[in-house]
Amino acid sequence: MTTTFPAKNYDFTTFQTARNLIGGSWRDPASSKQKIDVVNPRFGKAMSTVAMSGADDVDAAVKAGMRAFASWREWPIRERALVLYKLRELMARNIEELSWLISHENGKTFPEAKAEVEKGIECVEYGCSLPNLAAGNQLEVSRGVACEVVYEPLGVVAGVTPFNFPLMVPLWMLPQALVGGNSFILKPSEQVPLSSLRLADLLNEAGLPEGVFNIVQGGREIVEALCDHPGVKALGFVGSTRVAKAVYARCGAQGKRALCLGGAKNHLVVVPDADVELTAENVVASFVGCAGQRCMAASVLIAVGDVDHILAKVRAKAATIIAGKDLGPITSEASMKRIRGYIDDAEKQGAKIVLDGRGASGGGEAVKGGFWVGPTIIDHCTMDMPAVKEEIFGPVLSVVRVDTLEHAIEIENANPYGNASCIYTSSGDVARRVIDRVEAGMCGVNVGVPVPREPFGFGGWNDSLFGHGNITGWDGYRFWTRQRKITSKWAVQKDQTWMS
Ligand code: NAD
Repeated sequence: MTTTFPAKNYDFTTFQTARNLIGGSWRDPASSKQKIDVVNPRFGKAMSTVAMSGADDVDAAVKAGMRAFASWREWPIRERALVLYKLRELMARNIEELSWLISHENGKTFPEAKAEVEKGIECVEYGCSLPNLAAGNQLEVSRGVACEVVYEPLGVVAGVTPFNFPLMVPLWMLPQALVGGNSFILKPSEQVPLSSLRLADLLNEAGLPEGVFNIVQGGREIVEALCDHPGVKALGFVGSTRVAKAVYARCGAQGKRALCLGGAKNHLVVVPDADVELTAENVVASFVGCAGQRCMAASVLIAVGDVDHILAKVRAKAATIIAGKDLGPITSEASMKRIRGYIDDAEKQGAKIVLDGRGASGGGEAVKGGFWVGPTIIDHCTMDMPAVKEEIFGPVLSVVRVDTLEHAIEIENANPYGNASCIYTSSGDVARRVIDRVEAGMCGVNVGVPVPREPFGFGGWNDSLFGHGNITGWDGYRFWTRQRKITSKWAVQKDQTWMS
C-alpha cells in the first residue's frame, strides 16, 4: 500500500481524490464515475474530490474483509493490541500533520483539530488495554465444572461517521472492533473523507494486515448497502437523528446488530449561586467551540431566577471571540444559511439577539469567502421557537428564563434528545437534584462539555442514541464481539452433585 499524503504537505490545494481502500489497495469505484468536491469551509473552495461508490464496492470490501478476517481472528488478542500500540505512537509522531488535515477538511481551528487527535489517541490507548480487561471471566460453578466466557469477533463490521470529527469518531469504533478480531469497513462522511485516508496509512505502517481495514467512500447508497449486506455483521453509526433512526430500523429489518448515535439539543441550567467566571468560561467554550458543531455543544441555557450578572459575563466573553481566528467556519453554505435562518426566525418571533454572529466574515485572518457564523446569543426565547426546539449545530446559544429549578427540568425533559446536560451551581444539593432528574446520558457539573473520558463510555439517551450501551469504553468491546459461554468438565469428581 502506498501512502496517500506526503508527510509534510499542508498545502490544501494538492490533496488527491479520496478513493476506496479495498484489500490493501486504493481503487476507484468499480462502476460509478461520480465525484463530488471536498470543500474547505474556511475558504469555500474545493480542496479535493471524493469518489462516490456504489453497492458493488461495498460487496468488494466485504469480500476483502472476509478474506483478511480468516487469519486476523487467529491472532492472539495481545498481538492485535500491539498494532494499536504502534498506531498510538505513529499518531503521536504525526499529530501536527493529522491536525492540519482535519483543520483543512473540516474547518475547525488547529488547536481544536489537535484536541481531536489527542482524544483519538486516548481511544486507541483504551484499545491497547483491552487484553487486560477481557481476561479472567472464569468460575468453577460446581464441583469439577468450570464456566468461562470468551469474547469472539463477529466477522466483517462497519462504521459510518459524520463530518464533525473526521478522525476521532472513526476511532470511537476501530480500536474495540479491531482488537476484538473483526475486519472493519469505514464509510466516512463524504464532506470530510481525507483524514481516514491518512489513518489507513498509519494502520498499514503499524502492521495491520491488508484487508482488515477497508474504506468505501460515498453517501446514502453506501450506508444502505452496508445495512443490507448479509456479510456485514454489525454497524456503528454516528450522525443526525433522522438518519440514525433510519439506519437503525434498516439494520433491524435485517436482524443486524446496530448502535446508532444521533443528534442532540443540550441544555445548561444556570442558577444564581453559580461561580460567575467558571460558568461564563465553560458556557462560552461549550457553545462556541468547534463552531458549535459538536453533539455535546451547549445549545439552550435555562436561566433560573436572576442570573443577569452571569449572562452579562457570558456575553462579554463570547464577544471577544473572532471568527476566522479563534473560531472556525460552518461546514457548508447550506448549514450556514440554515443557522442564520434560526436566528432570523427567533428575532421575528420576539426574542432579543444580544450577540449577533450573522455578519461574521472570518476576517480574523483576512479570509475571503468561507461559511461563517460568529458567536450568537438569543435571549428571552420561548419554548415554541425552533431555535429552542431543534438542533441548530452552530455557535448559537438560546436563553430561556424561568423562575424555578422544577420548571427548568421540565423544559429540558420536554426535548426529545438526551445527549448532554449541565448544571452550574455552587450547591451539591442543587447539582444532584438536577442530574438525578434530567433525561440525558452525559451530565456535567460546572463543566462545558461533559464528554466522559476513557474508560467511561460515550453515549446519550432517547433520540440521541438508538440501540443499547455506549459506543466507546467496555460497551464498545461488547458491541463488536459476541460472547461464547463454555462449560467444561474433565474428570469425574468425588462428592459430585446433580449439578456437576
Ligand atoms: P448526517 O446524518 O448527515 O451524516 C452522517 C453519515 O450518514 C454520513 O456518513 C453520511 O454520508 C450518511 N448519510 C447522510 N444521509 C444519509 C441517508 N439519508 N441515509 C443513509 N446515510 C446517510 O450527519 P452529519 O451532518 O455528517 O453530522 C452532524 C450530525 O451528527 C449532528 O446531528 C450531530 O449531532 C451528530 N453527531 C452525533 C454524535 C453523537 O455522539 N451522538 C457525534 C457527532 C455528531
